[in-house]
Amino acid sequence: MKPMMAAFFSKKSITAFIFIFGCGISVMAQSQVPSSAMQHKKDSTIYTIYLSFDDGPLEGSEDINDAVQKEDIKVNVFVVGMHAFASARMQRFYKLYEADPHIEIGNHSYTHAHDHYNLYYAKPDSVLRDFEKNQLELGIKNKLARLPGRNMWRLKDLVINDNITGRQAADTLYKSGYRVFGWDLEWQHSGETGIPLQSVNEMVEIIERKLREGKTIRKNQLVLLAHDEMFRNGWEESELKQLILKLKSFGNYRFEHLSNYPD
Ligand SMILES: [Zn+2]
Repeated sequence: MKPMMAAFFSKKSITAFIFIFGCGISVMAQSQVPSSAMQHKKDSTIYTIYLSFDDGPLEGSEDINDAVQKEDIKVNVFVVGMHAFASARMQRFYKLYEADPHIEIGNHSYTHAHDHYNLYYAKPDSVLRDFEKNQLELGIKNKLARLPGRNMWRLKDLVINDNITGRQAADTLYKSGYRVFGWDLEWQHSGETGIPLQSVNEMVEIIERKLREGKTIRKNQLVLLAHDEMFRNGWEESELKQLILKLKSFGNYRFEHLSNYPD
């Protein structure tokens, strides 16, 4: 699963067309930002960020745990049982997540579809069994779910599909009591190195613009998807820290758990 990115830069605008297949979906992000307007505009609206990390535990999970403790923010992780039971080290990382009240754990399936998404979603009942196995073996307490490789949503008054297989599986999970969360924005990364593809400033700019212009799924709420493996350089040097500090510095951003996302 190798993300591919083509970016075109000009003096007055940054236009980035990003085609990513890393999680099995295609995303096109476009930002048009005069370089002189990169500084933060004053805004008194309270915005809520739901920072979520997928696919853990993996190398990087320990740093996320450190990060959220030091910055005292709430985040969600969507975990994969097969990764948690891969080694004693990963089991230890998972226990760090379990013990940390900053972290709310959600279900991202036991197998992650073995990365064969169309095959996986052809059998919605076995998708449900895969999620139930994950729920049981990892002792997940809530019923928050995210589908592997799919940006699909199932909440009380919200149904969003991303035009590929998985609709029936999402329906089946919802009927079984899961709230299914996709995302508003992905911070993409290289599948080989884990390095984030967008700079902190680019991400902050896109986050602000989406919220200001009401281009999120729920008004004033933004679900940001990142992955555990992205921030392996240690907390102090990480782009994640810079992003959190920057959003905190604006004064009107809150970090919240997805269990508090409006239905
Ligand atoms: Zn995933």
